[in-house]
Amino acid sequence: MAIRPFTRSFTQQEPIPEDAIAAAVEVMQTGRLHRYNTAPGEESQAAALEREVAAWQGSRFALACASGGAALRIALRAAGIGLGDTVLTNGFTLAPVPGAIVAVGARPVLVEIDENLCLDLDDLEARIARHRPAAVMASHMRGHLCDMDRLAAICAAAGAALIEDCAHTQGARWRGRRSGSFGLAGAFSTQTYKHLNSGEGGILVSDDPDFMARAILLSGSYMLYARHGAAPEESHFQAALLDVPNQSARMDNLRAALLRPQLARIDDAVRRWNARYDAVARSLARAPQLVLPHRPPEEGFVGSSIQFRIPGISTEAARHFVADAADLGVELKWFGADEPVGFTSAHHSWRYVEPQALPRTDAILAGLFDMRLPLTFTLEDCTQIGEIIAAGAAHLVPEAHP
Ligand SMILES: *Cc1c(COP(=O)(O)O)cnc(C)c1O
Repeated sequence: MAIRPFTRSFTQQEPIPEDAIAAAVEVMQTGRLHRYNTAPGEESQAAALEREVAAWQGSRFALACASGGAALRIALRAAGIGLGDTVLTNGFTLAPVPGAIVAVGARPVLVEIDENLCLDLDDLEARIARHRPAAVMASHMRGHLCDMDRLAAICAAAGAALIEDCAHTQGARWRGRRSGSFGLAGAFSTQTYKHLNSGEGGILVSDDPDFMARAILLSGSYMLYARHGAAPEESHFQAALLDVPNQSARMDNLRAALLRPQLARIDDAVRRWNARYDAVARSLARAPQLVLPHRPPEEGFVGSSIQFRIPGISTEAARHFVADAADLGVELKWFGADEPVGFTSAHHSWRYVEPQALPRTDAILAGLFDMRLPLTFTLEDCTQIGEIIAAGAAHLVPEAHP
């Protein structure tokens, strides 16, 4: 039976909701796009977003930033991390994460991941003992949460600040608690391919008032920090006011206006993503060659992308597998490629990081495939995509194991 090719785009997002467009147009009509340019008594869109994010997240404070990467850099600096410090992070994450660590003058040390694409917590403990890091930047890459209770306990015992990179877990939970609430701070991205779409943008959340005062000053608040929507009291700013360097990484009112109506609907988006994830996963389950990451019951994940492994697949076979899927319209990302393609997430292609041996991570990435699940896909689309991949897997010649 001939397989019907898939013809839709893997990078097409849903349109911005009409009420968000209307709010953005209203901001443009006033001309007050800068977050501190407010009429008397007016709450800016950026401040309102911060207030609403903090209420949604269940955090005391929130800061709207220019990007997720900017939020990560600000978090590190606000945590006092800089020149000479070591920061541990996942060996499998996106380039802005090691980039943020290097940007503040710190040294990234990479930690192995496990078969479920989570931070390997045994390796984390071993590397903490060896490197005495000032912080752990745990990246929940592709939405996979490790045992967050154990991670938080390990960091607390080591006296290392835990900063969560939640670019792929906005809306996800561990034992009911929102991702981003387990350590000193959580950083989110509102870049187009994440869970809220303002083109570019980021949000930092924390319960620590002194940390957040420094973060707000770092973001470039000048003496206008009182105009923030979820900020600590004045007294927390006093100690740092003239000492914290301005990093100019503010969010503007236009993007905040686009985000607020999307935040109000994010729980519905999560349900729709998970229905799509389940539809693909059901089709993939028919191919015994494909191994999906185990999702523990404590994890309330957001299925905005799906990953599977083909353990032991050769480079040659992986290339063919990806090419065959592409011929049928299915865009798979393969993390085992030698050369970085598109968005880079292989540690070998970060030359600004000291080369590090991560044999377990490399072995996992060699057989790891990944796919975005935009909400523009229907459930039928997802089933069809899963069937195309499962049929491709059926053609894989088993590797000769001597
Ligand atoms: C996108 C992303 C970031 C950074 O977000 P930007 O807003 O693009 O700077 C950080 N970590 C991961 C895992 C990401 O995918």
